[in-house]
Amino acid sequence: MTPRRIVVAGGGTAGWMAAAALSRTLGRTAEVILVESDAIGTVGVGESTIPPLVNYNRLLGIGEAEFMRATQATFKLGILFDNWKEPGSRYFHSFGTTGKDHWSAGFQHYWLEGLTRGHTQSYDDYCLELVAAFQNKFAHLPDDRLNYAYQLDSGLYGRFLRQLAEAAGTRRIEGRITNVELDGGSGNIVALLLDGDRRVEGDLFLDCTGFRGLLIEGALHAGFDDWTHWLPCDSAIALQTASVGPPEPYTRAIAHDAGWQWRIPLQHRVGNGIVYASRYLDHDAALERLLGNIEGAVLTEPNKLRFVTGARRRQWHRNCVAIGLSGGFMEPLEATSIHLIQRAVLRLIRMMPAGEISPSDVAEFNDQQMQDMVQIRDFLILHYKVTDRRDSPFWRQCAAMPVPDTLSQKIALFRDTARVFRKNEELFAENSWVQVMMGQGLMPRSHHPVAGKLTDEELAKLLSVLRDQVARTAATLPPHGDYVARYCGAPRADAA
Ligand code: FAD
Repeated sequence: MTPRRIVVAGGGTAGWMAAAALSRTLGRTAEVILVESDAIGTVGVGESTIPPLVNYNRLLGIGEAEFMRATQATFKLGILFDNWKEPGSRYFHSFGTTGKDHWSAGFQHYWLEGLTRGHTQSYDDYCLELVAAFQNKFAHLPDDRLNYAYQLDSGLYGRFLRQLAEAAGTRRIEGRITNVELDGGSGNIVALLLDGDRRVEGDLFLDCTGFRGLLIEGALHAGFDDWTHWLPCDSAIALQTASVGPPEPYTRAIAHDAGWQWRIPLQHRVGNGIVYASRYLDHDAALERLLGNIEGAVLTEPNKLRFVTGARRRQWHRNCVAIGLSGGFMEPLEATSIHLIQRAVLRLIRMMPAGEISPSDVAEFNDQQMQDMVQIRDFLILHYKVTDRRDSPFWRQCAAMPVPDTLSQKIALFRDTARVFRKNEELFAENSWVQVMMGQGLMPRSHHPVAGKLTDEELAKLLSVLRDQVARTAATLPPHGDYVARYCGAPRADAA
């Protein structure tokens, strides 16, 4: 028998994503109750996503155009990184692939061989998503040939998910959780105590209370691995501005001397924020810097956020599963948090207990979830570690910091051989690692000998055919803004 009553504590993106998926998937076999407090509210950020969300929506039977209209969403083809290798530098981390891999060697080996033979065209010219992004173009292509994600309004996304979850049977209770009642014997959670002397009992509890981690840490003390020595930013300020032109199909991450700044273009406005290490920049200076580097009228009060980068040691502990920020946070640079929510929810559904919670399920869930987080953590650290920037104490600290062995090994392998291997179904595939490592300034010292087998003529032909294919397909795409307006344009009245 599956748990009869699943109680979701918290109604942010995590809570409603979980409730919607559980209600839709488990149907009448479980009752899903969500408790949230309007007075407390949500974190109010989280607007840039990565491609697996497209599949999550498909799994839940969510119509894409309807979803995008409801959330004022635009398409995202990747992230434009400014000033990361050094001030004034720029590179793009795109979704999709670059060139064409041979089974024995990735495309980067052929491109590097080309460089040694005088082919100076940029690595970027071989990636359709990247070329389309720089031309501000987008369309759906047959066979999902253009990989994309969404940029969306987090407040509207919450509302959209709530409608979906309630329509599928989730029952919402408004109230503040004041205490968590534990069973004296097992240590399991028995009930949430709410203001007004209310009590919500359950069999399985999802902690979606955000950074507070009221259940998983506050009541169950699951422990936290602090990663601030690798991911030193601990503060952010978010604010929204009016659009000054058609939305670009990409998010921007602009490095500054103590962190970086984001820019996320939606249909009705732009999301902006500055992420920084409070050790090197105080709030007032960060706000001033943010306000000095935005376009368009400011629409909202600045939303100040503090966080500790790291992961909950046990994401599933006793009868409680942490989903969302309660499970940890690794800063928003590669927009991976909503993805981790999605992974946790799908994983939990796959491991839904048939009766008593099995310790093997718990152990497996925790292993898999932590593996996802560690792999993403390493990819994020790469952006701070591999750079020529030494122009501020922040960047000098990053240059000097020791990194995890798993990352050192990846960096050394690429530097020496141009090879990257995707291990254990990790989220970021070879193309991501190659683009970011080269974009951050790490150029390999050698490459695979198989690329040297091609004659000059064969190599020139291979490279020009691949470039032409990309250029020709990109030329057929319409402007992104026009495509969004036609496909999923939200009525102006919806504009926040
Ligand atoms: P929250 O939104 O904080 O929700 C917590 C819920 O718990 C709320 O409903 C609250 O009312 C409820 N609650 C708390 N305490 C109580 C109580 N005592 N009683 C009752 N209810 C309670 N992710 C991305 O994928 N892409 C991004 O671009 C991105 N950018 C980010 C930028 C910043 C600066 C930060 C900090 C995060 C960003 N994230 C991003 C992460 C993303 O915002 C979160 O993963 C996502 O919003 C989920 O948050 P949550 O639901 O876990 O927490």
